[in-house]
Amino acid sequence: MASVDEIKWARRVRQDKIRRLYTLDAKGIVDEELIDEVGYAMLARCEAIRKVTRAHFGRAACPRCESIIEHNGDKSAVLSCACGSSTTWGEYHRTYKGKQVVGGAAYPMFRAFIQRWPQTRTPRDKMLAIDALIHAAQGEFKGGMGRPAACNLIEGTMRGLIRFLDDLAYGDASTAGVRQTKAQWDAGTRGASWSLRRAQARDAMAPAAREDEETEG
Ligand SMILES: [Zn+2]
Repeated sequence: MASVDEIKWARRVRQDKIRRLYTLDAKGIVDEELIDEVGYAMLARCEAIRKVTRAHFGRAACPRCESIIEHNGDKSAVLSCACGSSTTWGEYHRTYKGKQVVGGAAYPMFRAFIQRWPQTRTPRDKMLAIDALIHAAQGEFKGGMGRPAACNLIEGTMRGLIRFLDDLAYGDASTAGVRQTKAQWDAGTRGASWSLRRAQARDAMAPAAREDEETEG
């Protein structure tokens, strides 16, 4: 019997892959293989987010046959499927707990990527689709952004990811459109409460402590 232990959710995308994609793009080098590698890894991750988000809110896909089994969030409730597979919601929940895979308010953006990626044809289409998603954020408040969608997509802590996105390479040869996305991102992050908190924390921090923060993954 297919067991819940066999469920493997697609992992978040490695930072070095995306860093390399932007470094090459800034030089005008089109590495279609790398673009596809990143795009399909993001697609797999978005599909995992879709499945987990549905499960989280009451509609779990059977680990064996993918049929939808409804539940009410009770951890001891048994999810039994017509195919014979059976598990508890608690066990199912453990397969994704702490893995940043519940979509939350950015869920429509991940779903939009699942629609958009298969329709991309040129390397530019693909680059723009990737670029838009990793610079998306869920929710807006006080004129700034909520939590970055990148937290669900790319390995790292939120603080590390903000820095990672800030450090991506751009140049005159970058794909047309990506620098506009970057400018919007910069404008949005300046007003975000987490960005303000970070700036205040940095100001208050001693130089030695600041260096420690810089070297942290
Ligand atoms: Zn089933």
